[in-house]
Amino acid sequence: MNDARQSLVFKEKISYEKLAELDKAYLWHPFTHMKQYIASEPIIIERGEGVRVFDVHGRAYYDGTSSIWLNVHGHCVPELNRAIVEQLERIAHSTLLGMSNVPAILFAERLVKIAPQGLKRVFYVDNGAGAVEAAIKIAVQFWANQGAKNKRLILGFYNNYHGDTLGAVGVAPDDMFHWAFLSLLPPHPRVPYPYPYRSQSSDPLAESLEATEKLLRQRRDEIAAVIVEPVEGAGGIIVPPRGFLKGLRELCNQYEVLLIVDEVATGFGRTGSMFACDIEKITPDLMCLGKGISGGYLPIGATLATEKVFEAFLGEVDSGKTFFHGHSYAGNPLGAAVSLVNLDLLEELMPQMPEKIEKLSSWLQPIADEPFVGEVRQAGFMVGIELVKDKKTKEGFAYRDQAGWKVADMARNNGLLVRPIGNVLIFMPPLVSTLDELEDMVQILCEAFRASRDELAKLAKN
Ligand code: PMP
Repeated sequence: MNDARQSLVFKEKISYEKLAELDKAYLWHPFTHMKQYIASEPIIIERGEGVRVFDVHGRAYYDGTSSIWLNVHGHCVPELNRAIVEQLERIAHSTLLGMSNVPAILFAERLVKIAPQGLKRVFYVDNGAGAVEAAIKIAVQFWANQGAKNKRLILGFYNNYHGDTLGAVGVAPDDMFHWAFLSLLPPHPRVPYPYPYRSQSSDPLAESLEATEKLLRQRRDEIAAVIVEPVEGAGGIIVPPRGFLKGLRELCNQYEVLLIVDEVATGFGRTGSMFACDIEKITPDLMCLGKGISGGYLPIGATLATEKVFEAFLGEVDSGKTFFHGHSYAGNPLGAAVSLVNLDLLEELMPQMPEKIEKLSSWLQPIADEPFVGEVRQAGFMVGIELVKDKKTKEGFAYRDQAGWKVADMARNNGLLVRPIGNVLIFMPPLVSTLDELEDMVQILCEAFRASRDELAKLAKN
């Protein structure tokens, strides 16, 4: 019966038509306009190899989104596959509640070694939003455990994004994504992020830090922490001026609030350094990790904390100081095992990043000259190409025009997967992409913009 060569999962060959029918009948896709999706011919991926994924027809696509900002070393990487298989032959999962497992311990030690100095404790979760939830709750309870029960607000930045669970939405509500939940959210204060492009202000960095300082000065007794994205990702790849994180660190020290840096998107080499915090040499009190942590292989995340934060949770069993929070799959051994090998490979890859990033910038230049491109923004291997109706006024396309999708569809037809968020086309290739592969991907993007000119011109007239 159990012939080792016979797949237990794929018992029979299923046609694309059948798969599409089942997909449309049974799945509800994340961040997807399902009405349009059901009317479309979806891409159904069957396998991956290197920086390409292959659909069930055998068509290859460059993974220009890194499977939504996760993938580091490409797909089906022998070392990463082996890490999982080796661990699988020992155990797939056991709980971290009150006990431990071998890869979770070893990976925590490695994480602390590479994290900004002073982050010493690893609290495992199983996704990025989960890392943010844990950080928010740790920050609030950190103060409550010391008797400062009024310190329960989190100061965030407009247009930052921290995930889709309610706590994460609470610190970064977005009118379009979260309109139905706004009344459910706590009144966390927010200030402007330093937006260095076409800013009305002559000094957006000073403006943002001054607004932060004003709020901290006025409400330090109510504010538990500041939460920030070191590069605004889903907000459209906004790279703040140098000095922002350092400025926040100083303000948080001065006004005695914790600093939470959400490195879910930026961590593990994405901006060219292991963590974005390393660029300004700061240590947050709490750091949120996800996405690239496992090389894009398995759902694992972590919230890192300093010893000072951790120690506030130590007390007698009836002191109420314990952090009663946890996920069933926290510290999953398969995830931790593959994450360990991800780090081995990443340490070999990091020295190659500066050249790749520089070349990528130069190849992207022609896209900035396209008639409907307002700006090309880049932080390492995070690229945002903003589409505008008018290059002079920088007016954006209406959401219903789905202008970004016109270009993304062209790119897809030519073998590159990219995905817009509103008017910003996000391009996030896997870090392992070779120079040839990167050049090829950018060529496809350039061609997609060129081929979309007429259609974008029509939309711009509306
Ligand atoms: N924080 C940031 C900065 C993110 O970009 C994301 C996801 N795009 C999240 C948190 C949420 O991560 P996840 O999707 O794994 O919940």
